[in-house]
Amino acid sequence: MTNRLYYIDAYLKRFKAQVLRCLPQEAGNSVVYLDQSAFYPTSGGQPFDTGTLGGLPVTDVFVDEAGDVAHVVQGCLHPGDAVEGLIDWERRFDHMQQHAGEHILAGCVFRQLQGHTNGLHLGHSDSSIDVDFPEGRTQLSDAALYALEDDANAHIQADVPIRCWFPEAEELAGLPLRKPPTVQNHVRVVQIGDDEFCACGGTHPSSAGQIGLVKILDARPSRGKLRLSFVCGRRANLSYRAYLEAAKQLSAILSADIDHLPQAASDALQKLKDAQYHLNAERALHAVEKLSAVLAETPVVNGIRIVCHCFDGIDAHALQQCASLASEKEKTVALLGSKTETDCLLLFARSGDVNADMGLILREACARHNGKGGGKSDFARGSAPDERALETALALVKQEVQRG
Ligand SMILES: [Zn+2]
Repeated sequence: MTNRLYYIDAYLKRFKAQVLRCLPQEAGNSVVYLDQSAFYPTSGGQPFDTGTLGGLPVTDVFVDEAGDVAHVVQGCLHPGDAVEGLIDWERRFDHMQQHAGEHILAGCVFRQLQGHTNGLHLGHSDSSIDVDFPEGRTQLSDAALYALEDDANAHIQADVPIRCWFPEAEELAGLPLRKPPTVQNHVRVVQIGDDEFCACGGTHPSSAGQIGLVKILDARPSRGKLRLSFVCGRRANLSYRAYLEAAKQLSAILSADIDHLPQAASDALQKLKDAQYHLNAERALHAVEKLSAVLAETPVVNGIRIVCHCFDGIDAHALQQCASLASEKEKTVALLGSKTETDCLLLFARSGDVNADMGLILREACARHNGKGGGKSDFARGSAPDERALETALALVKQEVQRG
C-alpha cells in the first residue's frame, strides 16, 4: 500500500518515491504505483491533485479497487526507479480552502439548525453540500443564510487551528464527531477550532485563517434536501471581482450608482414596456387604417368580398382588431397575416352571412406549410413559417365560395 504523505503533511509539494509498478494504458498513458505519494486521489468529494511524476504530467489520481493510490501519467516509468513528484500547488491549495471551508460551514449548519450534511461536491467553479433537516425543510431565509455565513467567517477570522490525526479507538470514542465515520478502521479526524470534529481523509490548511472567506452563493431545494452552493478563499475573491465587474458595467449602462441598480433596472424596463405598449397601439391604429383602405378597394365577387393582407410586425392584439373590423362588414372574409421576426401570425375571420369554415381552411393551409393552429367556423388563428399559407388560404376560400 502506498504511504500517503499528505496525511502527515498537507503542505508537502515535492517528494521522492520509488516506482513499484507501471501498467501501460491506451494512448501512451500508464498507471503508476509508488511506495509513497503526496498526490491526493479523488475521494470524499475532493478532486485529485495534478502535477508531475518523474517529469511526466499526472492527469488523474484515484483509489483503486484494492484501496491503493493509482497515478495516471502521460508516458511510462520504470519499476525500481527513484522519481520526484511535484504537486500543482495552486490547484491543491484551492481544494484545501474549499474543503476546510465546507467543514466549517457544515459545522455551523449543524450547530445552528441541526442540519446534517452528507457529502461534498467540489466543482470547477463552486462547491455544494446537501443538507438534511430534521423537519424536512428545503429552504432557508436570507437572514438564516447570512447567520450561517457570519458564523463560518467568524471562525475563519479567529484563525482557529485545524488539526488532522488518527486517534486511537478509545480517544475516537470520546470525540464529539458531527456524524458517524464512514469507515470502521484507521479513522482520520479533522478538528477545526473547538466545535467542529469530523471524520475526513482530505487535505486542509493548518489554520482557518488560510481559508480567507466563505461566501454562500445559492440555497435551493434539491431532492428533499437543501443544496447550499458556496465558494471559499481565492474563489470567493474571484467571485466578488466578477460580480463587482458586472455591477460596474451595469452601473455605466444605466447611469446609476451600484446601490441603486435594482431600481434603475426596474425603471428602465418599465419605460421599455410603456414604449412597447404605445408602439403596439400606434401600429394597431395604422393597421386598422390600412385595412379600411384595403376593404374599400376590394371588389365584391360573386356577392362576397375576400380580403387577403399581410401586415408587417403587428401583434396578435392588433391583428384581432383588424379581423373584427373586417368581419363586421357584410359578406366579408378576412384572411390576415402579420410577419414577425420568427414566423407569420395568421388570423382568419368572416362575417356571419358567409358560408365558409375558417377553422377548416386555416388547418388545411397550415398543414400544407408546416404551420399550426385552428379555430371555429367564423374565426381561427395560427402561425406558419411564412406568408405562403395566406395565398393557399385565399385559393381555398375562393374554391369554397364558388362551390357555394
Ligand atoms: Zn472532509
